[in-house]
Amino acid sequence: MADKKKDIRALTKEQLREFFVAQGDKAFRGNQVYEWLWGKGAHSFEDMTNVSKATREMLENHFVINHIKVDTMQRSSDGTVKNAVQLHDGLVVESVLIPTKSRTTACVSSQVGCSLDCRFCATARLKRMRNLNPDEIYDQVVAIDNESRLYHDRPLSNIVFMGMGEPLMNYNNVLKAIDKITDDEGLGMSPRRITVSTSGVPKMIRKMADDEVKFKLAVSLHSAIDEVRTSIMPFNATFPLADLRSALEYWYSKTKSRITYEYVVWKGINDKRKDVDALVQFCKFAPSKVNLIEYNPIDDGEFQQANSEAIDMYVKVLEANNITVTIRRSRGKDIDAACGQLANKS
Ligand code: SAH
Repeated sequence: MADKKKDIRALTKEQLREFFVAQGDKAFRGNQVYEWLWGKGAHSFEDMTNVSKATREMLENHFVINHIKVDTMQRSSDGTVKNAVQLHDGLVVESVLIPTKSRTTACVSSQVGCSLDCRFCATARLKRMRNLNPDEIYDQVVAIDNESRLYHDRPLSNIVFMGMGEPLMNYNNVLKAIDKITDDEGLGMSPRRITVSTSGVPKMIRKMADDEVKFKLAVSLHSAIDEVRTSIMPFNATFPLADLRSALEYWYSKTKSRITYEYVVWKGINDKRKDVDALVQFCKFAPSKVNLIEYNPIDDGEFQQANSEAIDMYVKVLEANNITVTIRRSRGKDIDAACGQLANKS
């Protein structure tokens, strides 16, 4: 019977107001309950102290609140916190709090497992898969915001969709979650502090541009040579670089928003001069930033981080071409909380 009840957070504010009117109550009750659900992150109807007991019981009879549960929490020696998040149906995803001097970033999941098959990514090895609901994404952010206040005495400052899953394969729910995160009645965060990271789904990048989204875009490129990219990210055979590139040109023409590329340099795979030249050619059509990410080994050595000469060459050539480069050091490695390691071993 409990399963038949609807998740109350699937309702818009307007729908909640209409529900109360249909119950012979005031529409205003809908606003109150909405504020509890989204502004105050209530986990149960019991928590809604300014709502009468009779109303709370009535809500209980109609709805559930499918709240996530932070199951295990691991803290790394560098301050990184990894949450194993249990969903209402028992599945588990992970999210991470990454503190630095100037910011605290939430790295959140958008799917359980992933349908893409990047050879170097731990999540790709998980079979089971479903999309997360908007509230399951939102709850991860709220949980990390609370941890940030608790452990670092400051609210969350940034969000990256770099946890488990491909956000553009769950676009509608990611968008709804971001709406709630940025809404004044939700967390009121600026969309400019949110980055959606994609392995590059051209059709969806165009859609984002058409939707005039205000958050930032990061593309996990890893190679600008089709043959190489297909060998490490096989779906590149379906969405080749030319298609990705024209979608990104469209994105830039519409948004004028700088594009960030995520890029790991691996020994013997993409550590040659021709690789960096191809990267320059690929991204020079728009202001770009290349994030050189440290590789986090997930297996027995099929992939290895390139040596520092190769990284230096990348930095030199990119900078000479006016492309911003940053080197992102790995965080939370001791608790498997680093990029691409999220695969709930726990
Ligand atoms: N599917 C999205 C978001 C999740 S992956 C995407 O592909 O962008 C987040 C980032 O971690 C991506 O840039 C991905 O390429 C990178 N990544 C995956 N496995 C990694 C690993 N083992 N070491 C370092 N980065 C990794």
